[in-house]
Amino acid sequence: MATSIDVRRSLVPRCTVRWTPFPRGVPPHAGMPSRGVVSSLASRLSQPSFALLVPTELMDTFQYKGGELYCEDVRVADLAAKYGTPLFVYSQAKFLHEFNAIKTAFAEVDPVLCYSVKANSNLSLLKVLNEAGSSFDVVSGGELYRVKHAGADTTRVVFAGVGKTDEEIRFGLESNILMFNVESEAELDAIAAVAKSMNRVAPVALRLNPDIDAKTHAKTTTGKKGNKFGMDIERHNQLADKVLSIPNLELRGIHMHLGSPILTTDPYEAAARKALEVVTELRSKGHKTNWINLGGGFGLSYRGQEAPPASEYAKVILPYVKQAECRLALEPGRSICGNAAILVSQVIYTKREGGKLFVIQDAAMNDLVRPAMYDSFHRIWPVAPRVAPPVDYEGPVDGCEATDIVGPICESGDYLAKGRALPEVHRGELLSTFSAGAYGMAMSSNYNSRPRAAEVLVSGKDVRVIRKRESLEDLIALERNL
Ligand code: PLP
Repeated sequence: MATSIDVRRSLVPRCTVRWTPFPRGVPPHAGMPSRGVVSSLASRLSQPSFALLVPTELMDTFQYKGGELYCEDVRVADLAAKYGTPLFVYSQAKFLHEFNAIKTAFAEVDPVLCYSVKANSNLSLLKVLNEAGSSFDVVSGGELYRVKHAGADTTRVVFAGVGKTDEEIRFGLESNILMFNVESEAELDAIAAVAKSMNRVAPVALRLNPDIDAKTHAKTTTGKKGNKFGMDIERHNQLADKVLSIPNLELRGIHMHLGSPILTTDPYEAAARKALEVVTELRSKGHKTNWINLGGGFGLSYRGQEAPPASEYAKVILPYVKQAECRLALEPGRSICGNAAILVSQVIYTKREGGKLFVIQDAAMNDLVRPAMYDSFHRIWPVAPRVAPPVDYEGPVDGCEATDIVGPICESGDYLAKGRALPEVHRGELLSTFSAGAYGMAMSSNYNSRPRAAEVLVSGKDVRVIRKRESLEDLIALERNL
């Protein structure tokens, strides 16, 4: 959570302190004074004054300048004109910044950060992260294939997922991965059998379901009793004993993933405390367990600045990891890529029906399924708006009308937002759906035979296409015309 602090006492003496001078609740893209302006203001303060601190030197990379939305130094409207819509636009600076914020926050224990590929698996993005020192969390042979293509050091890759096939286990072993996160006894047996057939010792971590309520959406909570994930502590301990009796297995660590996104730090503290307890017990039984993997799930600010910075999570996790004298692995996905992209769409029609205003635009649930699937909230605003972006996107806004922002798919569930304040827009105008980098393109489909959107990566003024827009031919390329 961004914090208010006394500027005179705490900020001015350390001019290099990283900060973002927004009043609480102001969305990061609403524009901000330059660092120089802020420093000179701060130096003239005689009375204590307050600024909003966030652990970042980075100004938001999606900003309205002169009434138009930019990604870094590029006009979003220019991107839409050149590459068409719907279009995912990524900011490389934001993407790397979020990765580095986690790396810095946990630096004391030199963690292995296994970016969770499921959040966004674009090869170029994986490459960018690999070059920045990230490792990867994969949940399928397909994701392992991708990270190998991105040049990953597979000895630092963790392999999760409740249903690994023998083929995937073999692929993991051939790739010398760091460890399998094991979710059941049946899976442990399968890993042992495949390892034996290859004359190998498989490194495993048992995934504990710690029965911690992470207070996330029912479909994204994973650490509560009754979820399909992991195992309870009794089974965990039984399986740990079983590992000792199987020469083809080595219990390298403990794994937990509580859900996503988690906007408070207490669940992590409870999980880290549990991990310490379990590791201590495992060692007393003769295991050489030296990894704690606390999964991903760090919060993302979809609305304003509601997610705690990585340093807050680190504060509650690190003491336990240090006490356990373990290596730490984390599997963050959403918090790295979520706010690094927008989805740009174009208004096709507007219509009034049944007492409502509908804006029908060309991004649909096949491009971004989160609103339909998780009732999730994404800020949406025109790329060249008639009304300045508000502080609060959820309430009424002067000059705006409550609007259902929907896609062309034949489902009532096909919407990006309902009853949302939106300035007047007309056919052909562009909209931006923010926080679209995580579980956007990764969960996209061809439903209604819609070719998937293109993706572009912006760095300063530089723009690279990292995934071409699918064509109509692509839609049927793998099918037989019997
Ligand atoms: N690790 C595991 C095991 C997961 O299931 C997930 C998400 O579902 C993640 C990591 C990534 O979570 P997030 O993208 O919220 O960081």
